[in-house]
Amino acid sequence: MELDSKLKEAVFDHNFILYYQPQYYAGNQKLRGMEALIRWKDGDGKMISPAKFIPIAEKNGTIIPIGNWVLEQSIRTFSEWRNRYGVPFVLSVNISALQYQKEDFVDSLLNIIRKYDASPEEIELEITESILIDDFQAVTEKMQLLKEYGIRISLDDFGTGFSSLSYLKKLPINTLKIDKSFTDTLLTDSATRIITESIVSMVKSLGFESIAEGVEEEQQYKYLRAIGCDIIQGYLFGNRCPRRRSNSYCRRYTDQLLQKE
Ligand code: C2E
Ligand code: CA
Ligand code: CA
Repeated sequence: MELDSKLKEAVFDHNFILYYQPQYYAGNQKLRGMEALIRWKDGDGKMISPAKFIPIAEKNGTIIPIGNWVLEQSIRTFSEWRNRYGVPFVLSVNISALQYQKEDFVDSLLNIIRKYDASPEEIELEITESILIDDFQAVTEKMQLLKEYGIRISLDDFGTGFSSLSYLKKLPINTLKIDKSFTDTLLTDSATRIITESIVSMVKSLGFESIAEGVEEEQQYKYLRAIGCDIIQGYLFGNRCPRRRSNSYCRRYTDQLLQKE
């Protein structure tokens, strides 16, 4: 209850921050992209995790203004970075089902992309299977439309829900993100290795890219690279960079990261 009304105030005051976590190609360790991850900056300077407040925002509807804010901020920042460093990379943004379902979702996204002079191919939407429980036909038609505009789509948290293989071949996605729970147990559980290997090879056959998330250990990275996983994301290669912790920390962090490329 308390969080619910505080969240509404936070939306009004724009009390949010975006962190950016890099993604690297497993083969050559070149930067592939950055995922924008939101934090709620509470009044007393405490950061509240999205795992805690996004479900509340989805219930009370504030996910719509929050989601719009995330898109606007992240695409603006992305363009600044791209212009400053001239390094090509993809911006990944998490999208909630409610946001995706909005009738004007595609148009307002395209408007933001144009406003900040980004190109659709540089933007990737991370969606989860939860959007598919809705009208499958309508959901995939919108995906197709996004794809026609060149916007990339990534299926997040793969392996945690129904993960039906029959719908996978019908989805016009570009990327599949293998859930962190697989990465976590790769080194200790042979069944996880078998499943992960099959997912990676299936993804390749379908013509998508695979990303493994939550990679913390060198051995996990080496294994994933050996089985042909395309992209790696996790603390091993980069923590999250707060964008608005103005100059010092974030500038240094991103400068180093982008200059290395
Ligand atoms: P997600 O999209 O699966 O994001 C990955 C989460 O794993 C992030 O947590 C990230 O910080 C964390 N993570 C990344 N690498 C590692 C690692 O190596 N080890 C460990 N232990 N954790 C790692 P975060 O930032 O707390 O986000 C949690 C979830 O909140 C996200 O899961 C996503 O579902 C949601 N979320 C975050 N930002 C947004 C947003 O802007 N909009 C929406 N709708 N949801 C968001
Ligand atoms: Ca994500
Ligand atoms: Ca995920």
